[in-house]
Amino acid sequence: MTGQEELERIAGEVARCTKCALHQSRKKGVPGEGPPSAEIMFIGEGPGFHENEQGRPFVGAAGQLLDQLLQNAGLRRSDVWITNVVKCRPPGNRDPLPEEIDTCTGTYLDAQIRVINPPIIVTLGRISMGRYMPGAKIGEVHGRMRRVGDRHVIAMYHPAAALRQPSIKPLLEEDFARLPQLLKQARLAAAQSVPLPKDAPPTEDDPRQLSLF
Ligand code: URA
Ligand code: SF4
Repeated sequence: MTGQEELERIAGEVARCTKCALHQSRKKGVPGEGPPSAEIMFIGEGPGFHENEQGRPFVGAAGQLLDQLLQNAGLRRSDVWITNVVKCRPPGNRDPLPEEIDTCTGTYLDAQIRVINPPIIVTLGRISMGRYMPGAKIGEVHGRMRRVGDRHVIAMYHPAAALRQPSIKPLLEEDFARLPQLLKQARLAAAQSVPLPKDAPPTEDDPRQLSLF
């Protein structure tokens, strides 16, 4: 099976899935979208109203901001992968429950990540950050690339948070603007198998970064 076929198989399973209670209120499952060759994978929280209607991720107001942030960073939406920790809309947009997250990511998201094998994972918001950086505080870690296992993960604020709280928007814009540079670093690290310091996110003024790149 090619990567594309594997991703389509996963999407087909999501559409019929009954593994957690979220299937009961689902109109359309939202497996996520993007090319198998994507180098950046964005992981949000879960489908909202419009996503549930259309079966596509980030197509509502938060999605429009995401599109704008990508464009400003010189990235094309069609080049990145966009998905969520849960693939069905939590009723009333409540937070997904830990067991729903465990079931869904263990069945689908982890498999998608294995197929796509992206040099960078960007978590959007605290729910998906919690999968990769348990206990981290978004205000402290946002925008910094961390090595988590054999992956490079950057936690960012959720675009919906920037819509609710205008002071967050410039932070999100800055973090997105740095993505192309961080992608170069992640590519280099992958090519040379040089891991970033574990749990010690390098920043621009961090001398450890200079010794590595
Ligand atoms: N918010 C999310 O976390 N995911 C979406 O797909 C849309 C809004
Ligand atoms: Fe299945 Fe995930 Fe939907 Fe739950 S949220 S029913 S695990 S696809």
